[in-house]
Amino acid sequence: MHEHDVSPSLDAILQAVENAWTKGAAPAESSRADPATDDRLKKLIEEMLAVQRMALALANGDLIQPLQVKGTMAGALKTLQANLRHLTWQTQMIAQGDFSQRVDFMGEFSESFNTMVQHLEDARTHLRQRETELTQANAQLHAEIVERQHAEEALRRANELLQTQLDEIKILQAQLREQAIRDPLTQLFNRRFLQETLTRELACAEREECILAVILLDIDHFKQVNDAHGHQAGDLMLQALADLLRNNTRQMDVACRYGGEEFVVVMPGAPFDAALVRAEQLRAKFERLRIVSNSVTLQATISLGVAAFPQHGKTSDELLRVADDALYAAKAAGRNRAVAAN
Ligand code: GH3
Ligand code: MG
Ligand code: MG
Repeated sequence: MHEHDVSPSLDAILQAVENAWTKGAAPAESSRADPATDDRLKKLIEEMLAVQRMALALANGDLIQPLQVKGTMAGALKTLQANLRHLTWQTQMIAQGDFSQRVDFMGEFSESFNTMVQHLEDARTHLRQRETELTQANAQLHAEIVERQHAEEALRRANELLQTQLDEIKILQAQLREQAIRDPLTQLFNRRFLQETLTRELACAEREECILAVILLDIDHFKQVNDAHGHQAGDLMLQALADLLRNNTRQMDVACRYGGEEFVVVMPGAPFDAALVRAEQLRAKFERLRIVSNSVTLQATISLGVAAFPQHGKTSDELLRVADDALYAAKAAGRNRAVAAN
């Protein structure tokens, strides 16, 4: 048998290679007589198909397709696969923040890719700078807030202190006002307050056409009390008389220590007769009063002069002078009595 009789025809080989190349079809089982040639053809076509599978895998993005075949075409595909795998790895590294990665194959793509990575790195550097700046600004702001809170707290405390001092000053002022108008021994109003009050009340009475009465009273022979029992006993008597006046005058009335053992009761709105009755009541009550000083029981009397607005005077000086005249008359008439002004 001749060799060309047992070899596959060129046409059949071409057909098999064409099928493999275009359709990816494996060669059909042939009945060729020369197994060596047949095997070579089979191997060649299998290698072509392997290269083809590799190309298809790459086209589909599959980068793990193995290829055992050698040769220029297979070598190029394996290089491409290796490059794409390396590129994938580099991209993963970049995704993890490693911006030192640079691609050096595929020309323009590499250029753009590397530029993109550089931009990412620049953006990250810029962001980190910005973050540092913001952190510093934040810390500064926080420090300022704390400082401000401290200042506010200090201000609040200073305010509280000031308020306390203000309250104390108000209390002191009130005390001072009281001291300025009170007699320290008897706690009755003093002469200054009497002058102001009487002047004001008279002006009011004049304006409103009201009436007003005053009682001027003086302890009889008070000097003898001091001389016989001491100044302290005298003081006690003055305080007892002050209490008596306080407890026997109406809310509207103003009881004052005029000086020494002399007292004045101003009675706004009181008719003259009522003031006379009141004077007599005061006289009688004081006469009955017993004051114990150092186990000694003291007793005294008072003389009183009563005058009224408008009939006895229009000004406080006039009224007090007329009342004093009446008081003098009471003394002259034997003391322990109330005398009405003329
Ligand atoms: P008359 O009946 O004429 O009023 O006689 P009198 O002794 O009360 O009057 P006189 O003016 O002679 O004496 C008043 C006395 O009052 C003299 C003075 O020492 C005393 N005196 C004045 N102020 C006080 C005081 O605050 N305390 C005491 N204990 N005595 C005082
Ligand atoms: Mg007297
Ligand atoms: Mg007197």
